[in-house]
Amino acid sequence: MAEPLKLNFSAPRRGMPPKHFADFTVDERVEKLAELGLPKFRAKQLAKHYYQHLTNDVEKMTDIPAEKRAAVKEALFPDLMTPIRQTSTDDGSTTKSLWRLHDGTLLESVLMRYPGRATLCISSQAGCGMACPFCATGQGGLDRNLSTAEIVEQFRNASAQMEAEGGRLSNVVFMGMGEPLANYKRVIHAVRQITGQDGEGFGLSQRNVTVSTVGLAPAIRKFADEGLACTLAVSLHTPDDELRDSLVPVNNRWPVSEVLDAARYYADTSGRRVSIEYALIRDKNDQGFRADMLGRKLHQALGSKVHVNVIPLNPTPGSEWDAAPKARQDEFVRRVIAQGVPCTVRDTKGDEIAAACGQLAADERESA
Ligand code: SAH
Repeated sequence: MAEPLKLNFSAPRRGMPPKHFADFTVDERVEKLAELGLPKFRAKQLAKHYYQHLTNDVEKMTDIPAEKRAAVKEALFPDLMTPIRQTSTDDGSTTKSLWRLHDGTLLESVLMRYPGRATLCISSQAGCGMACPFCATGQGGLDRNLSTAEIVEQFRNASAQMEAEGGRLSNVVFMGMGEPLANYKRVIHAVRQITGQDGEGFGLSQRNVTVSTVGLAPAIRKFADEGLACTLAVSLHTPDDELRDSLVPVNNRWPVSEVLDAARYYADTSGRRVSIEYALIRDKNDQGFRADMLGRKLHQALGSKVHVNVIPLNPTPGSEWDAAPKARQDEFVRRVIAQGVPCTVRDTKGDEIAAACGQLAADERESA
């Protein structure tokens, strides 16, 4: 039986941060600098420090006149996030960072190092209003949208950290806290900076950025029209509306068929294969008939332009739900593949430090 619709689209409860370099357009930066009596070319210098040298410390930008640095910091580089703690697991290859934002809001991001690549799992909102019952972030509701700069700063910090280790940040997934397409404009602005070339961004390949959504169908179409070749991930979790209405409450607004139509539009427009996320939950969505139905529906809607990512459920505190047994999972994967749809199991890093998929909740309080 479907549970009542409990979405939380309410106005953000807390305040947005001061404006930062990464919130501004190039023209706005030039304007800000003019107010400080600084010429246009300084904007390019700042961009080089920020995007190429990965610094936001104005005191280190020694080509900026010394007597202007304090004013530049105040106007363009206010402190947005204070690191509270970093925890590691998987032999140090996974680190979760907890930050406090200017208004006390807590934010988490997770950095996963693999041989030859490193992926940052980034947050787009503090909390989340989508209320998926199996997800830790979903239980607390939405605190507020993150600003563009708060999203970009997660990337810059992790990039700097990777660089310090002699590596490179190669992938970004919007799979941390929040629903990225519910904070649409800021997320797109952030993606444009993460992938921007020629001195106006960090230069990551668009293909290496994955935006994951509960399935806000109109926003998926809009995202397709942005002309970015990012990877779209859709958190489907079940192929039938009856169950999805309760697993992903926004399904009551945009049902499976509309989500898959929008995903198809994204695949056609971007030329990219869409990734379907499926958190496998014991006795909930792990039945053979659902695997068959999933494979059938995806094959029909997306042909060869789809891939299924099975995520073993990471149980959240207080929930009676659990991951499906291994044999069930194997059977599920086999049956999806039998319908002609590629299907693999996501390796879940970070579960020991509550940093795995769906576990980010920033519920830690500082012991003063
Ligand atoms: N709001 C976006 C991003 C959220 S997190 C979205 O829903 O896609 C990224 C993925 O983790 C989503 O597929 C989400 O459904 C999944 N997830 C959430 N809680 C989980 C849990 N407890 N175990 C496994 N996956 C989970």
